[in-house]
Amino acid sequence: METYFNHINGEWTESSTAERFDNRNPANWNEIIGTFPKSDKKDVDAAVRSARSAYSDWRLTPAPKRGEYLKVVGDIMTERKEELARLMTREMGKVLKETRGDVQEGIDTAYYAATEGRRLFGRNAPSEMPNKVNLTFRMPIGVAGIITPWNFPMAIPTWKIFPALVCGNTVVFKPASDTPATATEFVKILLEAGIPPNVVNIVHGTGSGVGAPIVNHPDINVISFTGSSAVGKSIAASCGTQLKRVSLELGGKNAQIVMDDADLDLALDGVLWGAFGTTGQRCTETSRIILHKKIYDTFIDKLVVRTEALKLGNGLNEDAEVGPFINEGQRETVEKYVEIGKKEGADILCGGERAESGDLADGFFYKPTIFGGVDQNMTIAQEEIFGPVLSVIKIGSLEEAISVLNNSIYGLSSSIYTWDINSAFTAMRDIEAGITYVNGPTIGAECHMPFGGMKETGNGHREGGWEVYEFYSETKTIYVDFSGKLQKAQIDNR
Ligand code: NAD
Repeated sequence: METYFNHINGEWTESSTAERFDNRNPANWNEIIGTFPKSDKKDVDAAVRSARSAYSDWRLTPAPKRGEYLKVVGDIMTERKEELARLMTREMGKVLKETRGDVQEGIDTAYYAATEGRRLFGRNAPSEMPNKVNLTFRMPIGVAGIITPWNFPMAIPTWKIFPALVCGNTVVFKPASDTPATATEFVKILLEAGIPPNVVNIVHGTGSGVGAPIVNHPDINVISFTGSSAVGKSIAASCGTQLKRVSLELGGKNAQIVMDDADLDLALDGVLWGAFGTTGQRCTETSRIILHKKIYDTFIDKLVVRTEALKLGNGLNEDAEVGPFINEGQRETVEKYVEIGKKEGADILCGGERAESGDLADGFFYKPTIFGGVDQNMTIAQEEIFGPVLSVIKIGSLEEAISVLNNSIYGLSSSIYTWDINSAFTAMRDIEAGITYVNGPTIGAECHMPFGGMKETGNGHREGGWEVYEFYSETKTIYVDFSGKLQKAQIDNR
């Protein structure tokens, strides 16, 4: 068991409360991975002072140089990939194949961000006046407050922190208290790569103890938050009263449509991966499958057989396909939804109970669950469950499928399986979601493409790709007049 600290002002420090919390393995709750400082507002204040003190130099460090640090970060992460993946599996339960993918996403994001340091494009446009030049530059904003969830302990922090740094901001980072170890190793790598110590600060603790003080700190200029819609809304309200820039990536209720002309085996592979990967604890998880009535029975029969064959287990076992829930609270939430589904009249086709035999006894395991006969307005078809629970809804046409898919307060990811080009393009146009996959599952974002959702999934910003660099920078407009005389714009010169 390791003892971990906050990183503030270039030093690894205890919290001002001197209290600590344990980080445990959800596949074996008896295993303690480490203890962490339970911090509060005083620690946040110190971290913000540290980040602010680093800002004046960091903002003037040339962006290509800032990018070069991230190239080194990517190299170190590559060297340590397996070790980081194993630590991540131990602290949050995802199977190794997925945690390796999580680290790889961070590596890819590092290399992308490194080259972005040589772009950060502004624009130029012609002036209304002779002998005058109009330009825009991208300027850093200041100190960025980064608040992340536990389900992508490496990828999500890298999506946020790398572009924040390349744009010239300094960082105060609060990771989820369920995954503080991966986050700490990540910060160690940033320091090892030579990023000046005060530029990145990490403060461990709860949402109310550390997250809220970050959101409300007057010297933090920009907030990036990924997590639940309930917390996201409260953060949006606080940032609104402070006129603080905020990016929110929140919940999802993603659906996969399977039309009657689809390749059913391909669609089956897709939904198994989309619904039960990461034990369903992904914002892009497939939680509804919308099946054309002509293939409904055949598809369900095959789906249930394949689902029951999924191997549950400790993610460190190479043959495990589905790991545990992150904690007991998450398992209880899912159990509550399963009871609601039964009461509302949906049919349990498989799963619907804990898996506690043998090696699974000390972890938060649950059998992958499918509900058939689901009405689109049932609670299980409307609310985010964040677990391996799939609702099957029957439809008779493409129009109905898209209407059912859009019947949600969320709009993150979506998918359609069809070989019909007209159906595919209609879906691409009419589905209300930030991401639509054609003949692929709802999960599997690539780091160089914009990522985010519509409706209550967010507030219109995107992570990933080129768009996130706009979030972490301000546009400055420059006019250079080399005419040597007063030229008046906003005056009727014509
Ligand atoms: P959560 O909202 O409980 O916590 C997220 C983070 O916010 C944690 O670090 C937590 O400590 C912190 N926090 C909690 N209360 C806070 C407050 N009042 N002020 C500031 N910070 C606070 O979410 P979670 O359980 O960690 O993650 C699951 C949720 O995240 C799901 O709803 C999932 O859909 C969503 N998610 C969304 C995306 C996306 O990109 N859209 C990606 C991953 C997860």
